[in-house]
Amino acid sequence: MSEPAAGAHTATLAADGSVSKERPRWRALIRTFRGDINTGYGQAMGYPAIDALTLRVLRYHLLALAVVVLLNAVIKLPSYIESPLGWRVITPAEAWWKLGLGALAAVAPWYLYGRVKNHYLWRLCAVTSLAAFSYLLVFVTGGSIEAHFHFFVIIAYATIYADWRLGWLVLLLTALHHTVLDFLRPGWVFHYGHNLIAPLVHVVFVAAAVGFATLLCRHQRNAIVSLELARRRNDEFLGIASHELRTPVTSIKAFVQVLQRRVGQDGDGRTSQTLGRVEHQVNRLSALIGDLLDATKIKKGTLPLRTSTFDFDAFIHDAAEELQVACEGHRIEVIGRSGKRVSADEDRLRQVLSNLVMNAVKYSPQADRVLIRLSDRRDLVRVEVIDYGIGISSENQRLLFRRFFRIEEPGHPVYPGLGLGLYITAEIIRRHKGKIGVESLPGKGSTFFIELPAS
Ligand code: ADP
Repeated sequence: MSEPAAGAHTATLAADGSVSKERPRWRALIRTFRGDINTGYGQAMGYPAIDALTLRVLRYHLLALAVVVLLNAVIKLPSYIESPLGWRVITPAEAWWKLGLGALAAVAPWYLYGRVKNHYLWRLCAVTSLAAFSYLLVFVTGGSIEAHFHFFVIIAYATIYADWRLGWLVLLLTALHHTVLDFLRPGWVFHYGHNLIAPLVHVVFVAAAVGFATLLCRHQRNAIVSLELARRRNDEFLGIASHELRTPVTSIKAFVQVLQRRVGQDGDGRTSQTLGRVEHQVNRLSALIGDLLDATKIKKGTLPLRTSTFDFDAFIHDAAEELQVACEGHRIEVIGRSGKRVSADEDRLRQVLSNLVMNAVKYSPQADRVLIRLSDRRDLVRVEVIDYGIGISSENQRLLFRRFFRIEEPGHPVYPGLGLGLYITAEIIRRHKGKIGVESLPGKGSTFFIELPAS
């Protein structure tokens, strides 16, 4: 496991399970300005979702800027109505270059996203863009005091990255705004004009806001890092435990088979029956350990795929026949055809179909059949596993493919399992660049569907 970069106020998990939080030292604080203190925790901190939101927020900013420019430069609204926001008519030239800067501020983070590998650099860029909009909104509204509040909103926004340094960047930019630009273009700042005291007064208030944001970031970061470390320890334990359990279970399975053969020759019916039960339980244990191992490999990104190209319909018919042997109470019918070939890992797809069909059987105790429907859609093959069982509420449908998720509510039967089957199924399909989903009505049944690219 790659360990996250060391940094100030890092939460660490001690051997006895206690979490200690390092107090930041100044030298460490300054050192951490250079690197990404959240490397390795981006997923846990929800960075992909936050980044998507940031890019959306930047687009909305550009839209807002365009609206203000339209009102102030094209319609010239300030010459008819006195605005509570202190706006002013701006010239077309001013409107164009401010809109241009706004477009640059919105497009740069979008363009750099994924291209810049260091997420810290990207965060700095995105927050600088947001602060650039603070400037632009102040200038197109004629330095209105309300538009200044945008800087505070950005500081608050930056805390969702749990990176205390971003707020200080905004403080720096705010200070720049009031020092350099006061001298360059005092006329743009509506309320203050050329005022030397203003920067100092502002710095006090903004620094207080940034100090508060820093505390929030540290608190949030420590909490997430503690949880993440505990989760990693948990994963590590599961990986080691399942690996260590596999060898003895495989040996027990082999010994049981040897014993069964011997007992079969001696003709002892009752002992043979008991050994059959032992084998059944050992197979279940082996399947659970297999799921745990697969889940560990998925987490580490080391689940191997052995791809070959084969006829999809023939494969499904064959797999359904095999499953029929294990599902005595239900008829497994295959209908439709795709008429296509796929390039996939046959064993893993067999595992996927087995998970879906076994669940369909388990959760439709009153029904006597499970339908497998094949179809094709342009360059895709589609297979649906349809049951007429207890169904799944829409709330649970959304959580179904998460690791360790199991429905435990009144009226929903609980069968032994770890809640890993659908998680592994979804990951296998994702690795094949396919799609998986579910449609269900409680009390009526469920349809799990898979789509895979045809070859
Ligand atoms: P497990 O391996 O423990 O069975 P799964 O990931 O396969 O876990 O399934 C997660 C949960 O989804 C199960 O606990 C079950 O409640 C629900 N579930 C899965 N398939 C169906 C189905 N066809 N009908 C109703 N509930 C289902």
